[in-house]
Amino acid sequence: MPNPEAATAEEVLSWALAAYGDSLAISTSFQKEGMVVIDIATRINPRVRVFTIDTGRLPEETHQMMETVRQRYGIPVEIVFPEASEVESMIATHGPNLFYREVTLRKLCCHMRKVRPLERKLATLSAWVVGLRRSQTESRADIAKVESRDAIVKISPLADWTSHDVDDYILRHDVPVHPLYAKGFPSIGCGPCTRATFDCEDQRAGRWWWEQDTEKECGIHIAPSGRVVRQVDALIAEIQPAAN
Ligand code: SF4
Repeated sequence: MPNPEAATAEEVLSWALAAYGDSLAISTSFQKEGMVVIDIATRINPRVRVFTIDTGRLPEETHQMMETVRQRYGIPVEIVFPEASEVESMIATHGPNLFYREVTLRKLCCHMRKVRPLERKLATLSAWVVGLRRSQTESRADIAKVESRDAIVKISPLADWTSHDVDDYILRHDVPVHPLYAKGFPSIGCGPCTRATFDCEDQRAGRWWWEQDTEKECGIHIAPSGRVVRQVDALIAEIQPAAN
């Protein structure tokens, strides 16, 4: 695409769907932005592929959204699971709620339950579409609408949208909304790691709320620092051989 930054979300998605066809899929956790992307994309191609990662710790409301998307848009949601042996080994070594104990264990859990399944899925695709917006967090301020990384093209058609743009689109097109928004959750992830927030709090304050001064990212969109990668690698080595 010649200049994706000047293109609308509809134009970016039209180009991407034509360029990559079935080797493109939308990745979503059924938050508002992901739902807007699905709604726009299905208007262009009703057979667009959609996948989600079921970490094994999702709230029931997210499973309701999988069903809602299947029924509303008539598309099968491809559900990607972590490797059972990897999770079994991690839990046997560190316990099921390891994420509350220290940041590196939380990152290990995100790595095994989210990052590795995503990497396996992406290895089967040429392009993936996400609902990231630059104004969501400081760490997302520089995302491009189209970027090529590790032999795959990542497309963020809503990169320059505001939260008001998202809400406005949802209202105008009657897009289904995750039930946890009505309970005060501004950002939705795994059940044990997400809580409702107060109006004065940052949008990501409800994610891993017990951590202080850490980047509120799981490693899917923002790569952790080299030090954290080394710490997580060491933890992965501890739970081998099942993890590799
Ligand atoms: S969000 Fe929490 S439960 Fe989910 S993968 Fe990350 S640490 Fe594990």
